Amino acid sequence: VSSELHVIDVGHGNCAVVTGNDWAMMVDAGASAAVIETVIHLGLTRLNSIVISHRDFDHARGLVQLLARESLEIGAVYIGADAAKNPSAPETANLLVALADAKRGGRCTVSRDLDNTFASTELSGGGVVVEVIAPTFATVMTGPTGRSPAGPKMTSNSVSAVLRVVLPDGLRILLPGDMDHVALKELIEAGVDLTADVLVFPHHGSLGTVPDERAFAADVMRAVNAATVLFSVGRAIKARPTADVLSGVLDVRPDVKIACTQLSSGCLGMGSDLPESPTQLGHLTALPAAGRSTCRACAGSITLRRPGMVGPVAAEHEKYLLATASTPMCRTLRPEVG
Ligand SMILES: [Zn+2]
Ligand SMILES: [Zn+2]
Repeated sequence: VSSELHVIDVGHGNCAVVTGNDWAMMVDAGASAAVIETVIHLGLTRLNSIVISHRDFDHARGLVQLLARESLEIGAVYIGADAAKNPSAPETANLLVALADAKRGGRCTVSRDLDNTFASTELSGGGVVVEVIAPTFATVMTGPTGRSPAGPKMTSNSVSAVLRVVLPDGLRILLPGDMDHVALKELIEAGVDLTADVLVFPHHGSLGTVPDERAFAADVMRAVNAATVLFSVGRAIKARPTADVLSGVLDVRPDVKIACTQLSSGCLGMGSDLPESPTQLGHLTALPAAGRSTCRACAGSITLRRPGMVGPVAAEHEKYLLATASTPMCRTLRPEVG
């Protein structure tokens, strides 16, 4: 297995798999069969670690199925405490029971201990370096519903893990989960280096709680300065990424390469016809993708290694996008285009 990072199309949600030399890790496990299917497709018998960036179910729901899959060895699961989650709500209770059983039975270690004091050797392996940039120690020790060191009250998103993965070929990928403006403010005020070559944009390109999405997106881009920005979105009535977020991204990097896992309703309205058969989506990688059978995929599941997005082939993805989308936002909003 070569060293790569795969951003899996799980619909609205996140899942990334990083493979190194005799080593693999997963970052987030969204709510899709594509999570387990990816483990099978890549032939993984062991995940050295699974990091759940934060406790929202579009990042955590797939963990229950991963733990239940006995043929998959798991080294360590990192998942935080969250006072905003009702422990007696059925789905949360289910997750907590699965984790407690795994911990008690020695299935894997389960740790709430993940913050920016980690040495970069802690999560790294197989030639891949994994840095923990957030949450900060003070944020973890407070948690959602508490006050951020930057001032405002924190949600589950404010405590999201922010990881930078550096592949052996040098490609740097920032996985910020659902980092919000509260978390970003804390990191920027502390002068933290957030730069990366590829960014999986936080919170699926739409932040309902951010007062000015365009300014937030521009702040993110100034801090990360990524040449490639990916959006992990499900096709839904609410267009994600929003036009404001895309505009903020393009304000800072007009030359940025953009790809979304599924086709945004901002690029093709929900009333419009999608391709009828998955065979018309020949540009997709062979990786499992939630939007393949439903033809909702745009870039689908994406493979990253130097120099950036190597699958799907950028030219093929663009050809599909231009043939399918009536208003491809990453084109129409680009300053020099329209
Ligand atoms: Zn979230
Ligand atoms: Zn999310």
